[in-house]
Amino acid sequence: MVFNICGIISADFLSGLVHWMADTWGSVELTVVGQAFIRPFREHHIDPTAITRHDFIETNGDNFMAIIPGLVYLLYFFRSNEYKIICLNYNWICYLFLLAIFVAMTNQIHQLSHIYGPLPVWILFLQDMHIILPRKHHRIHHISPHETYFCITTGWLNFPLEIIHFWSALELIIQSITGCKPRSDDLKWAQKGLGAPTLPNTLNHIEQAIPSH
Ligand SMILES: [Zn+2]
Ligand SMILES: [Zn+2]
Repeated sequence: MVFNICGIISADFLSGLVHWMADTWGSVELTVVGQAFIRPFREHHIDPTAITRHDFIETNGDNFMAIIPGLVYLLYFFRSNEYKIICLNYNWICYLFLLAIFVAMTNQIHQLSHIYGPLPVWILFLQDMHIILPRKHHRIHHISPHETYFCITTGWLNFPLEIIHFWSALELIIQSITGCKPRSDDLKWAQKGLGAPTLPNTLNHIEQAIPSH
């Protein structure tokens, strides 16, 4: 059980780490990485509901592909067909299995946190129980300048990481080493993409779109 929980926590941390990197560093103008990796995250701040119009493949394709190496590695244990090997590595297998499942579901969970129309009761239950990212919880990240609550799988780590100033400390360290400022091109890109005053309008839109659930 502990290893299952650790797998889910690791997935939540990875979601936060990847999200933080894309939100905080680099520019959409970078070749390849800028367009393929950074741009979708920055666009999501400008139009948070666009993700709700993505189909299943567009939402989950990248994450499903990302876990393929892990699943191949897991297959090694089951292909061996040796009960003893599986028993010896049981905790490790449980950890990887839950990690893979929650990494694969991260974008789907994130999408669900942006849907404010009717949702199946069991999804609402999972959100209310904080087993998957709750809508109200994720709303905190969408307040400009998007510098906290990056974890988007379960959101379990957001509060503890905020308490210890994890992301801001990491940003200070990186800034002191590289001289790069976090989120330096965020506003510039937003204004270029949708015209000033984009961010205030977007925030009003978010506030109006989110019920007080
Ligand atoms: Zn973000
Ligand atoms: Zn979001």
